[in-house]
Amino acid sequence: MLKRNKITIVGAGNVGATAAHWAASKELGDIVLVDVVEGVPQGKALDLAQAGPIEGFDVSITGTNGYDETEGSDVVVITAGIARKPGMSRDDLLKTNYEIVSSVVREICSRSPDAYIIVVSKPVDVMTYVAVKEGGFSRNQVMGQAGVLDSTRFRAFLAMELGVSVEDVSAFVMGAHGDSMVPLVRYSYAGGIPVERLIPKERLDAIVERTRKGGGEIVDLLKTGSAFVAPAVATIEMVEAILLDERRILPCAAYLEGQYGVDGGYVGVPLRLGAGGIQEIYDISLSDDEKAAMKVAGDAVKELVAATPKG
Ligand code: NAD
Repeated sequence: MLKRNKITIVGAGNVGATAAHWAASKELGDIVLVDVVEGVPQGKALDLAQAGPIEGFDVSITGTNGYDETEGSDVVVITAGIARKPGMSRDDLLKTNYEIVSSVVREICSRSPDAYIIVVSKPVDVMTYVAVKEGGFSRNQVMGQAGVLDSTRFRAFLAMELGVSVEDVSAFVMGAHGDSMVPLVRYSYAGGIPVERLIPKERLDAIVERTRKGGGEIVDLLKTGSAFVAPAVATIEMVEAILLDERRILPCAAYLEGQYGVDGGYVGVPLRLGAGGIQEIYDISLSDDEKAAMKVAGDAVKELVAATPKG
């Protein structure tokens, strides 16, 4: 019998609810939206379901405060977490999100041991590690979303600079999410032409810097809250790659064992994503500067992992 895909999204906040919207509109599978706040996942699920007849998406959307409905999920997206509040240290935030993500993973692993887990909660590289450690999942099953978002921001800025279609710009960002991300100018093209031939160095440097600070730019504009549409779309691109076995090459946080000089820990790298989750990690050649930046990213993630209760 043909089985419908089941996608669980934990955290029905801005990123989670928007990811549910995109997953529904692409009819990737039935959706279960989980949150701790009573009524919120149920209300958002019902609202989304009522858009189905107009848009013609024919999937079931369930909101819940528990996990029984998530049983047998094919993909689980974790967006549960809190944002840093005034007066809260980075370590306090790390510990709080550590507790949240560990508790979520404990609920998921017994009910959906074969699911692919995409971690979005921040700090994403660390929370991805927490998910593997707490859930007993294999390494091909668990990955973090950050590089797809950073890359789409980089591509958008390059397309704006050149005044060309975003469809013609390919580029990607490796490393950790945040200051130690590594946008790869050398591997960026517009219509097959290296962008270094089209954009002067000082403008490219400014675009790289804007990409690094892409999240902060939106926080400064919104004043309360952070980006959620591009993060949700980036996450659903990964969900789609797995469920449809698209064999996409996407930059995702994966566990490295020596690749790029990082031994142990999750860092964003280009990999092939499809049926079975992470199918292959590509170990491409980097310049000395890029290698040094990857080392900084790997060290920064290790330092944060060490600061978690089980680090
Ligand atoms: P949000 O505050 O809108 O949503 C978070 C939701 O998680 C809330 O609805 C909250 O009730 C829920 N939650 C808290 N504890 C929970 C638990 N134990 N179980 C289930 N749900 C729980 O935040 P958001 O803007 O949607 O962001 C979600 C997370 O994603 C944050 O950690 C944010 O920093 C991160 N994020 C990551 C990226 C990325 O590219 N990796 C991009 C944007 C945001």
